[in-house]
Amino acid sequence: MSDDISISKGIIEQLIDGQIDDDNLERLLKLPKKDSSRFFNYIKVLQGRVRWKDKILLRLSDKLYIVSQGTGKRITKCECGHEFGDYRSNWKLQSKVRVRKTAEEMKAVYDPKPAVPEAGWQEIREYFCPSCATQHAVEVVPPGYPVVMEMLPDLDKFYSDYLGKPLDDAASDWYQDKTSDTTSNWG
Ligand SMILES: [Zn+2]
Repeated sequence: MSDDISISKGIIEQLIDGQIDDDNLERLLKLPKKDSSRFFNYIKVLQGRVRWKDKILLRLSDKLYIVSQGTGKRITKCECGHEFGDYRSNWKLQSKVRVRKTAEEMKAVYDPKPAVPEAGWQEIREYFCPSCATQHAVEVVPPGYPVVMEMLPDLDKFYSDYLGKPLDDAASDWYQDKTSDTTSNWG
């Protein structure tokens, strides 16, 4: 049994690093039954790779997580430790932003050239961690378009209904967009 766990941990690490070989990948795809604890094994590997102790609830992107800091505190956090606040408020509003508006600025990051967005009609917004400068997200939108909230997961539903392990601080008011709380403080 312990062999199974260590194999699956190694495979998960290879998956995360994008280094899994074709044979193992095919084996995973053809498993007659999915490993029911695969999500928690995945989280365990991720948890072992960060330097902080907050409990990872979900991975949002390569280096961005929703974590629990104890009852009633679920925040968005960078791998480097930078905290973006309550996960229900769009973390992008707490990030460093670079906007590419001109054709020249956009051409610098687009290939092939015909795919470059049209200046004036679209802009590229790049969102960075204020502490480690990791680029966490990019969006291509019309100028003036609201900052895109990429994901607002219903964590309680996911943990209770899909994983069968409800979170300790489950409550009905978790699942809501709190971004306007952040912007209302800007005034
Ligand atoms: Zn960071």
